[in-house]
Amino acid sequence: METTSTTNKHIPQRTCVACRQVKAKRQLIRLVALPGGGVEVDTDNRKAGRGAYMCPTLKCWQAGLVAGRLEYTLRTSLTQENRERLIEFGKKLDRELVSG
Ligand SMILES: [Zn+2]
Repeated sequence: METTSTTNKHIPQRTCVACRQVKAKRQLIRLVALPGGGVEVDTDNRKAGRGAYMCPTLKCWQAGLVAGRLEYTLRTSLTQENRERLIEFGKKLDRELVSG
């Protein structure tokens, strides 16, 4: 039996909307523009809708959310509450990375 070791499988890549770095899709967090407005973190990668990707670092989340790059990419606008909720999510991600 022949086993051609093609361990070089195609890895889907995406660009972080904040720092523009191209990374493996699974290294990034997907955010989805909701049909009714606003943006939600798509933790399962299953939500339908226009999506954007960001690194799981607070630096990128702040650039994406505070500087408005995420809104620009998703062609939507965030309410203050929505923005704060997403930034909180980014802060948690950052803490997890630091401790782990
Ligand atoms: Zn980034």
